[in-house]
Parts: sequence; C-alpha cells; structure tokens
Amino acid sequence: MERIGAHSHIRGLGLDDQLEPRVSSQGMVGQAKARKAAGMILKMVQEGRIAGRAMLFAGPPSTGKTAIALGMAQTLGADVPFTMIAASEVFSLSMSKTEALTQALRRSIGVRIKEETEIIEGEVVEMQIDRSLTGATKTGKLTIKTTDMETVYDLGTKMIDALSKEKVTAGDVIAIDKTSGKVSKLGRSFARSRDYDAMGADTRFVQCPEGEVQKRKEVVHTVSLHEIDVINSRTQGFLALFAGDTGEIKPELRDQINTKVAEWREEGKAEIIPGVLFIDEVHMLDIECFSFLNRALENELSPLVIMASNRGMARIRGTKFRSPHGLPVDLLDRVLIVSTQPYSPEEIQDIIKIRCEEEDVALADSALTVLTSMAAQTTLRYALNLISCGQVIARRRKAERVEVDDLRRAYVYFMDEKRSVQWLKEQQGSLVF
Ligand code: ATP
Repeated sequence: MERIGAHSHIRGLGLDDQLEPRVSSQGMVGQAKARKAAGMILKMVQEGRIAGRAMLFAGPPSTGKTAIALGMAQTLGADVPFTMIAASEVFSLSMSKTEALTQALRRSIGVRIKEETEIIEGEVVEMQIDRSLTGATKTGKLTIKTTDMETVYDLGTKMIDALSKEKVTAGDVIAIDKTSGKVSKLGRSFARSRDYDAMGADTRFVQCPEGEVQKRKEVVHTVSLHEIDVINSRTQGFLALFAGDTGEIKPELRDQINTKVAEWREEGKAEIIPGVLFIDEVHMLDIECFSFLNRALENELSPLVIMASNRGMARIRGTKFRSPHGLPVDLLDRVLIVSTQPYSPEEIQDIIKIRCEEEDVALADSALTVLTSMAAQTTLRYALNLISCGQVIARRRKAERVEVDDLRRAYVYFMDEKRSVQWLKEQQGSLVF
C-alpha cells in the first residue's frame, strides 16, 4: 500500500513554457501570482543567478506556501538539491542552532563531479582462470578480440567474480568498466556492427597508443557539500550518512573541503550546483539564527533560501521587538516577499476534487458542496483531513461513496482549530495548564 502524504498530489508548479500558471495542472490550482513568482525564481536558480538570495512566502494558514515550495522542488530536477526543514528542528540537544543551520545550508549545495572511466569492449576469445588458487584470491587471463587485434588482460579476484556473475564465456561480446569493474554482456552483433551509440551519448571511442581499443565514458554524480563533510569527518565514511546522527562537524574540516572543492572547480573536475533550502514556520527561528542566516547568505557557497510564515506582526524570538512575520528588518530588507491569498470557493472545490482522486475516495456531489463550505469556515487543511475520515465512516456502513452524513459525523468526531479554542475556553478551570 502506498502512503499518501498531504502534498502527494503536487507534481510541479503547473506553469506553461512562458511561466504562465495553468488553471489546474500538476495538482496545482489557483494562487496564480505566487506560482508565477516561484517559477521566475526557479528560472534564475536554474541559470545559477540567484544563489545567496532569499525569498519569503507570507500568507494565511493553508494557502499553499508549503505546496508551492514542493512544486518548486519537483520542477528543479533530480540533481539540484532541495532541503526542507521546519524552523523548530534547528533547536535540538544534539547540536547548536548554527551547526544545524550550517548543515541544512550545505545539504542544499550540490557538487557535480565528473569522472572519466575506461571501457574495454570486444569479443571474448578465451578466458583462463587459475583453478589451483582457493579462498579469496583468484587470478586469470582474459583474451579479448576487437576488430583489428587481440589483447590479453590479467584478471584479479574482483573481475573474475564479475565475469562469473554475468556468466561470460568465450564468444560473448562484453564491456568492462575499468573503474567500477562492472561487466556487461552486449549483443553478439554489437562489436561487429560498431554500434557505439548504443552505449549512450557520453561514451567516446578512443584509440590508445598501444593500439588497444578502448572507450571512455564520462560519469557524472552529484553529492551535497554536507555529504562530503560527513564522509570526511567519520571513520565509517559514507555509512555515517545512513546512521542519521551526523553530530557537529569541525569548521576546519569544512574549510579544507571548501578549498578542495574550489580546486576541483578550477581543474574543471567539479561544478557547484546551488540548490534550495526551504525553512517552514520561519518565525520560530530566534535572533541568533537570523543573524547567522543573514551572514551565511553573503557566503559564496550559499543556496537560495526560501522561507515561509503565516504570522503577521510577531515578536522576533530572543528579543522584545515586534516585526512583520517575526523577521528582523535587516533580513526582511533583503528577501523577495511573495504573498499567498485565501482561495475562492471554486478553487477550494477543485483542490478537494484533486485530493479525492489522489486518495481514491468517491465523494457525492452534495458532500463536495458541504466540504467546500466547511473549508471556507475552518481551513482548507481541516477539510482535506476530513476526506479520509469520511471514507472510514462510509466504509463502516459498507458504502463506497462518502455522503454528507459521513462528513457530518467526521466533523463531530474531529475538532477544527476554532472549535478547539472555544472548547478550551469553556473548560477553563477544569484543565491543567
Ligand atoms: P501553513 O501556514 O499552515 O503551514 P501552508 O500555506 O503551508 O499552511 P499548505 O500546507 O501548503 O499550506 O496547504 C494545505 C493543504 O492544501 C496541503 O495539503 C496542500 O497540498 C493543499 N494545497 C494548498 N494550496 C494548493 C494549491 N494551490 N493547489 C493544490 N493543493 C493545494
């Protein structure tokens, strides 16, 4: 069974090639101005023009700030890093606030590393494996014929294992990636027809000085600066990435890594891919975090920082001052602010329909109308939550379709924020605070 998240229907920003928002596309409805602004910012990110900048989505609860940020992430493409945190995650016992922010920032910077690997390719004429050796070490010889010559290779344990795994025998046409040791069997006509395109556009055919026929393939992988930090700071290397608990990383190590990456860049071996760091509920950060962020944005290796807040005038945490969205004025001054607006009933209805499809729930027309007006009176998120509750109730009476009555019951079982506040007021005196 697939788990369905609150935003699983969002597949992009739903913009056309001119960055104009389509009425309903990729799971997105309405909020046209904010989506278009997000699209423009993305364009700048993709062109590498907006690193070290910040933007703020400001708007009432449930107006799609997180949804738009996720739409942006999906549009960016797999190798542009996108990190999402809630501001309160920064406060933990295991590391300082600034360390947590540094890790989040460095997770959002990609390093695209290019490597060349040699591919030996040809028909296997003969394979001799020394059977007298037992245990872990194996040796042998492999004779490969290309169109114009035969070459004999010495085989080590790794290669012998790879060849036997692929069940390579004399007569097969194979390709061996010398760096990874990966062996692939190719179709028998492959070497003869010299169909090198079949290996992909990034494969070059190279005639080596000794006449040995080889090919070179460019392999590109993207890792984040944070991943490089972790791999270099732990004895267990990359396994630390899976352990989850990365702990604090020494600033000197980060300096060394920055220098190394700068060298790779100069040598043309690596490229920096500034990604996006999304900080939800940004008003939860305190003044120290804001000052740190402000400085971090000046750094050459800074991603685009997107923040979201549903607060109007609010106190800046750690001070007694109030400010728009709880952000200090000097930080506010450098961010691009995009506002999100409450939805019209038609838009709410469309979003509910999309969610029903996503959750595979059949909703009666009358129930759709009721749920739409519930969303207007409470919040969109509350109404969306009632969809699956309504379905559970409908199923209990063995019905496939959610009717008004199912929603009414769900509404009684689960309180929205307003009713919850009202209830608290009524209970004052009998509750412990
Ligand atoms: P908050 O300020 O409370 O964090 P938010 O502005 O981040 O709220 P979301 O969480 O993005 O609001 O929206 C609430 C729900 O409505 C989510 O399930 C989201 O996917 C959906 N939603 C919001 N806007 C849209 C939209 N324009 N199109 C489709 N779905 C949307």
